[in-house]
Amino acid sequence: ILRLGLNFDGKALAGLEFKTKDYFIFTFDHVPLAEQSDEIRFRAPEEIRLKGGPFQLANTIVSVRIDPASPYRVAAGENGPALFLDAQHLADVEFPPIPGWYNKTTSTGKTPGEIAPIIEWGYLIYLTVFRNCQYFGKDEECAFCDINHNWRQQRMQGRPYTGIKPIEDILEVLSFIDEQDSIAKCYTITGGSIVTEIQKKKETDFYYQYVEAIEKKFPGRWMAKMVVQAWEKEELWRFKDVGVKVYHPNYEVWDKELFFKLCPGKTRFIGRDNWIRRIVDAVDVFGPSCVIPNFVGGVELSKPYGFKTVAEAVKSTAEGLDYFMSHGVVPRFTTWCPEPYTTLSTLETQPKPPLVYFLELLSEWKQIFEKYELPTPPGYGPPGPGNAVFSVSAFMDIIGYEGR
Ligand code: SF4
Repeated sequence: ILRLGLNFDGKALAGLEFKTKDYFIFTFDHVPLAEQSDEIRFRAPEEIRLKGGPFQLANTIVSVRIDPASPYRVAAGENGPALFLDAQHLADVEFPPIPGWYNKTTSTGKTPGEIAPIIEWGYLIYLTVFRNCQYFGKDEECAFCDINHNWRQQRMQGRPYTGIKPIEDILEVLSFIDEQDSIAKCYTITGGSIVTEIQKKKETDFYYQYVEAIEKKFPGRWMAKMVVQAWEKEELWRFKDVGVKVYHPNYEVWDKELFFKLCPGKTRFIGRDNWIRRIVDAVDVFGPSCVIPNFVGGVELSKPYGFKTVAEAVKSTAEGLDYFMSHGVVPRFTTWCPEPYTTLSTLETQPKPPLVYFLELLSEWKQIFEKYELPTPPGYGPPGPGNAVFSVSAFMDIIGYEGR
């Protein structure tokens, strides 16, 4: 479903109240907003929860990526919304509830969904504090990333979509959450890379001010996580000291040549060797299980630079997994979504990676994770089939699974 997206029947959404997509960092859609029907645009849920149905599926939360051409369709079923693969009923479907605090507004007139959206069925507060990236254009932007294109699309649709979130707005929404919410357990601070300055602050100072303000006002209330660039250890200590528990310096793709091609900005400004060294160095600061770099599952098969076969792609990525996991670092992955305006999608029509790739990748991830007897990554909620809330890949669902 993450690979191919979801095709929503507008009737399945009509008359229901649920939390819709907040477009919290990327579009994660297979088609531009402008090409979505009025019934679907800004009306689709953030996630769906699959359950029951003819196969008696365990509860499984899946992030929503819109694609009207997908064979996976959410339509009205006998008991409410249901998931179909062509004509086959696969599962019943629930949409995420709207937290009570979503109905408030800040004193500056902003909505919580814009300032501090909630994802993973209420578990994670997602704070994209800088909604652009200074790696800009084909020569710098990561080739699979649509952060800048998402911002542009939201603005073109007339949505309020603050580029740099004021700390005061964030603190105000967090105070709503603090008062009313018992489901959210973590927050993530993230945003695009900063190669010059923003508001006269260099990258590390810019991001530091957010976590400092949050931890000062709400010390330890939620687990603090950061998705930012790979920084030197000397910079990381103050983040650890101020309260950050989990660090995500995303390495995106393991293969050396693909990193150069797909991450030109990261290559030019930091370099692959430095990036990898800094990930491993960060273990001294946060502890091995709290360094969780992401890679983009499936982008190794993208055209024109990627591997030609699933076996080569999985072999390369498994090599990276083994390297990091041998140091106690637990990489996680998101499922590549070839959004339309990314560099890759403008270079070639991108085939969706085959399902067998993800099955093989999950098998490798689990086998290496178990080989090094690593702990469940913190900050992702409960693991295992039927329990996991992480919604953009199945790595949390398979922890403890006794099958393959
Ligand atoms: S560093 Fe790359 S992946 Fe991260 S926001 Fe910038 S372009 Fe996107």
